[in-house]
Amino acid sequence: MAFGVKFISRNIGLDLGTANVVVYLDGQGIVLREPCMVAVRADSRRHVLAVGEDAKAMLGRTPDNIVAVRPVIDGVIADFDSTQLMVKYLLHKANGFAVPIMRPRVVVCVPYGITPVERRAVIESVRGAGARSVHLVVEPMAAAIGAGLDIEGAQGSMVVDIGGGTSEMAVLSMNGVVTACSVRCAGQKMDEAIINYIKNEYNLLIGERTAEEVKLGIGSAIQIRRRETAMVRGRDLITGLPNTVEISNEEITEALHEPLTTIMNGVRTCLENTPPELASDIMNKGIYLTGGGSLLGGMDLLIANQTGMPVILAENPMDCVAQGAGILAGNLERLRRITEEAEDWK
Ligand code: ADP
Ligand code: MG
Repeated sequence: MAFGVKFISRNIGLDLGTANVVVYLDGQGIVLREPCMVAVRADSRRHVLAVGEDAKAMLGRTPDNIVAVRPVIDGVIADFDSTQLMVKYLLHKANGFAVPIMRPRVVVCVPYGITPVERRAVIESVRGAGARSVHLVVEPMAAAIGAGLDIEGAQGSMVVDIGGGTSEMAVLSMNGVVTACSVRCAGQKMDEAIINYIKNEYNLLIGERTAEEVKLGIGSAIQIRRRETAMVRGRDLITGLPNTVEISNEEITEALHEPLTTIMNGVRTCLENTPPELASDIMNKGIYLTGGGSLLGGMDLLIANQTGMPVILAENPMDCVAQGAGILAGNLERLRRITEEAEDWK
């Protein structure tokens, strides 16, 4: 093998999420997970200064001439150029920065129900980033495959994927989506709800990153007996000076009430639209939870309590979508069976 040239898997599964980009190399598994973020010069957006983790570290800390942007908003490409540059960089990084021998086939996941124009933008940006061919698969389908569910048979399966921007619920059977629902409410709305709560209750303005840290630290979807607290630092809106307050888990659960209600309404709508035979399969098999938001403490219990269904948190929920896409990328036959169906969902 020549110097600097490395074997690149010819098949890649790419989860271009609102919060994170996850790359799965066929034969290797998940090789990369980075925040879906780029830092660019404000005057020339094509000048990328940092991608992923490095860009996220700059969030809320950049001088005026540098901005950290999320190129994907609610699962849809909001900034074409920076998405393309980010994907190019991350595919390169996934390959250990070696010169690829051949261009990969990439299976990319897209939210259920995006428009043909939005689908085209994903295809063009990934192709522009160096892919030989690009195939789209809807997220709930990839999530189910990644979670190890059998969706080929006539049995119904249900997945709820709670990501950064959107929560997607779907009932799948025979390689197709029977019913699905997507709400623009997930992890980021939870962070916003925490920011608003602390602003209203304590006159303290905190940043997005801090809000997320509090959520990961002491956030819970349901009230739990054990009391936990976190020290939260921000800017006092009255004095204008930095200040710290102590927040409890009960308060965070209260703050999360609204976004969680929105997500639960989506789950309920999806179940209401499910044919009875499939509903009974789901009652037996349980609802599978994927996506980073499903890691919120007690999320599985909340859904189980409110639906009366068994709920199973998938293994490695943040990787399921990329894993499902990667499995399909390595199995053309199966990919074809699924994407043929997919064309009808547009
Ligand atoms: P996307 O597919 O939209 O990129 P992910 O599935 O990667 O989203 O999930 C990202 C979201 O999950 C973020 O909003 C993040 O704050 C949230 N998250 C990750 N881990 C946890 C956790 N332990 N508790 C609560 N939320 C979490
Ligand atoms: Mg996702």
